[in-house]
Amino acid sequence: MAMLKLLRAPLKYIQGKDSLLNFYEETKNLGSSFLFICSNSGYKNCHAKIEKSFENTGSKLHFEIFGGISSNSEIEKMRKIVRDEHVEVVVGVGGGSAIDTAKATAYYEKCPVTVVPTVTATDAPCTGLSVIYKDDGTFDKYLFYPKNPEAVIVDSKVIANAPVKFLVAGMGDALGTYFEARACSRTDSPSLENGGVTLSAMALCKLCYETLMEYGYQAKLSCEKHLITPALEAVIEANVYLSGVGADNGGLAVSHSVYNGFTVLEECKNTMHGPLVAFGTIAQLILEKAPREELKKVMDFCYKIGLPMTLKQIGVTDEKRVNIAAEKACAQGETVHNLVGDVTPGQLYDAILTADLLGQKYFK
Ligand SMILES: [Zn+2]
Repeated sequence: MAMLKLLRAPLKYIQGKDSLLNFYEETKNLGSSFLFICSNSGYKNCHAKIEKSFENTGSKLHFEIFGGISSNSEIEKMRKIVRDEHVEVVVGVGGGSAIDTAKATAYYEKCPVTVVPTVTATDAPCTGLSVIYKDDGTFDKYLFYPKNPEAVIVDSKVIANAPVKFLVAGMGDALGTYFEARACSRTDSPSLENGGVTLSAMALCKLCYETLMEYGYQAKLSCEKHLITPALEAVIEANVYLSGVGADNGGLAVSHSVYNGFTVLEECKNTMHGPLVAFGTIAQLILEKAPREELKKVMDFCYKIGLPMTLKQIGVTDEKRVNIAAEKACAQGETVHNLVGDVTPGQLYDAILTADLLGQKYFK
């Protein structure tokens, strides 16, 4: 039987200025006892609005600041709170790790989960999976869930007040989405949800790319000054929903394997996920022999937004080290193999070095 097409998404997506004041309205059907697993800044920036939305409702709220990484011991700690306090709904408030911890806790305790992203740097909010780390912070495994979060609630004011580097990083992650899905559909490769790519998923991925091109730069300027504009709203939606649901259902290819490859290099440890994905996207387009116009459009965008285009910008000063990253990026099971004709470490090395050469031209 041919692979079945599949589309999954959060049940509900809410976005706008002060949307957290509606938290109770949007989630009251899920239960009346809530555990909020918060990052430090997530707690600081969100708890007042959330508490206000619950005024006089009689619901029980428990805010818990979590340890910073989505590790098994952290998840165990949160599960104990769920059991001891008869929690009915788990909420993740913060960046990727708080969200991943909340999703895992809810899954194991069979509770619905709601997500409140406080930055738009990754695809964590809308996807049906968590990245689990070991207690020392190194990658452990992916945890796949049977469904996506019940609700994702994005407060644009919280996003606009967060450091702009997170919005830019999210645009880097979102930049790969369309090209990776396109690569998967060309080879009938499965999505992250292990299904065939639907027309609907491709449409979301394409809209993600177009939204970045149209509004990315203006959104960056707005966010720098903490201004909320329609362009910023559009890019928040692209980073959180279009990129998240798009990648989940459209699949990954070279961009994310390049990210995985560079994470083994010590010198890249301060470069965030999204910027590495953006650099990997340039390498993917080179491997695909993409039309010059398309490559130029992507590179012009990276330059304007401040996404990396050279090895130096991602922390690599010794070209030979790229061999290690390329080997790792082409390991068995990596999504790099979803590309037409497949990719060898040697070919990837050449493409990455070429991306670097083209990128350097922008800074001369
Ligand atoms: Zn990503």
